[in-house]
Amino acid sequence: MPKQIYDVLIVGSGHSGGMAAGVLTQKGLRVLMLNAGPVPDLEKDRVFKPTHELPYRGFGNPNAHLDHVFQANEFNANTWVNEKEVPYSHAPDAPYNWVRVRLLGGRSLFWARQSFRLSDFEFKAANYPGGAGDNWPISLADLDPYYSRVEQQFRVVGRKEGWPQFPDGNFTAGVEGTDSECQKRMTAVANKMGIPVSRMRAALGDNGLASSLNLSIPGALATGKLDIVPNAVVREVTVDKNTGRATGVHFLDRHTRREMHASARVVILAAGTLESTRLLLNSGIANSSGLIGHYLIDQLYGCTVVAAMPEARDGKANPALIGGGLFMPRFRNLGKDEKRNFRGGYCLPMGTGSTPDAKYFPEYGPALQKKLDSYAGACITGGIYGEVLPRYENHVRINKSQQDAWGIPTLHIEARYGENERNLCKDAADTMEELYKACGFEILVKSDKVNPPGYSIHELGTCRMGDDPKKSVLNKWNQSHDIKNLLVVDGSAFVTGGWQNPTMTILALSMRASEHLAEEMGKGNL
Ligand SMILES: Cc1cc2nc3c(=O)[nH]c(=O)nc-3n(C[C@H](O)[C@H](O)[C@H](O)COP(=O)(O)OP(=O)(O)OC[C@H]3O[C@@H](n4cnc5c(N)ncnc54)[C@H](O)[C@@H]3O)c2cc1C
Repeated sequence: MPKQIYDVLIVGSGHSGGMAAGVLTQKGLRVLMLNAGPVPDLEKDRVFKPTHELPYRGFGNPNAHLDHVFQANEFNANTWVNEKEVPYSHAPDAPYNWVRVRLLGGRSLFWARQSFRLSDFEFKAANYPGGAGDNWPISLADLDPYYSRVEQQFRVVGRKEGWPQFPDGNFTAGVEGTDSECQKRMTAVANKMGIPVSRMRAALGDNGLASSLNLSIPGALATGKLDIVPNAVVREVTVDKNTGRATGVHFLDRHTRREMHASARVVILAAGTLESTRLLLNSGIANSSGLIGHYLIDQLYGCTVVAAMPEARDGKANPALIGGGLFMPRFRNLGKDEKRNFRGGYCLPMGTGSTPDAKYFPEYGPALQKKLDSYAGACITGGIYGEVLPRYENHVRINKSQQDAWGIPTLHIEARYGENERNLCKDAADTMEELYKACGFEILVKSDKVNPPGYSIHELGTCRMGDDPKKSVLNKWNQSHDIKNLLVVDGSAFVTGGWQNPTMTILALSMRASEHLAEEMGKGNL
């Protein structure tokens, strides 16, 4: 690595870090990106292997140490962070699913690309009686131009609706299919119940890949202004004791464990919400508010209701009758006079035309096979993405008695869902049941069980932004209140989580913060 003082040093190469690198290099700044893991070989790693070529024949490597990664399997086990190498702890009665990727590109290589904007029901939650949390220092209008550019870059497709709780984006034209009979019936019944029905919004990216590795980093490299150091595990942000300014970071080579220092005029943390927070806590900086690590939020997943359309059973399912998805954006707690036993809202993503899981039937052998044949292609599945209340007590802190493979203290995560989340889930399950029944469907499964916090892989908060340095960690430009040349541009800055998957908002915030930073550096203010 060339010995020099960079203009900006970025820790992390996922969506948030990639976006920052793209913006800053286009503005002519010299940028160094450090990433904890290796560079993936997309050509080689995306090749599909037959099960018989896998050492454990697809049943999974018992030594993979991925206890909390529910989507890990033998095909993809080498992509996730090994929990033995980088462990974390939680109370036995409060499990937390922390799913991490350290390859260059981070989780952007694997995300499902569902792409939504937050609305002012989330940015200005405190202004609404049923709002879930405090106000952000910015509104949808502030982020709108950045969302628009991100949506264009990531080629987001969606149907424009004009609903305030589901803000439309700058969509790429997609192909609208014809609704099946089942979709039409469900839409009519949902609308009668006051539930709006739209379609999923998703980023097409390029050839199905919408990652920093193919959409942000190549442009940054093309400027000649970006240096990337993979396998660089950052341990600490360094600060000049006299000026109070960040000076760079200490990092270790992943393989040799040799410790080095990299210097820059500005440090940007983009290590993914909880890793950025861990770095700040381990550095012991930027925490005059005492709030770093607090107000951990995510979206809650779970709550499954599965039904069958009787007319589609016994081999009668066909594309005209059943098939296609429906997306019902938030419809609760939008009105001023609405009285619920929970705050916030949820959406209902639904699919039709599936075959039910064998576990839904209390039979086995030929009787079970008969059932599965009868219900093949005739099912409707619904779940929720639900809003989680930001609570001070849901937090992370450094676990002083545990270190990772590089001797860096790990995180202890303390997050629990409460009555609000349980009531919200119950409302969602009851609503889905009511909807299905009104459609004439047979209910196969109804569960209002919530998955553990973290399960959605959308961890947010812990360095919330705000105008008051006593009540927030970052200002509205993702800059530390305490250390002006230190920014955090990932999901840590969120004040409320919303029910919407967060990545479009993370990208838009990172773009906005980076452009502001470049402007300020240009004016000599930093
Ligand atoms: C399977 C899956 C499906 C998903 N689906 C969706 C979806 O449909 N919609 C949606 O909005 N979101 C989705 N997400 C979430 C989305 O991927 C994340 O919100 C987003 O990618 C976060 O980007 P990030 O840059 O903040 O963090 P990350 O992608 O986690 O990147 C962080 C980077 O920091 C690096 N790093 C960490 N610690 C250090 C350190 N100490 N030193 C140096 N480098 C470090 C890592 O190597 C990593 O590259 C999904 C995630 C997964 C895994």
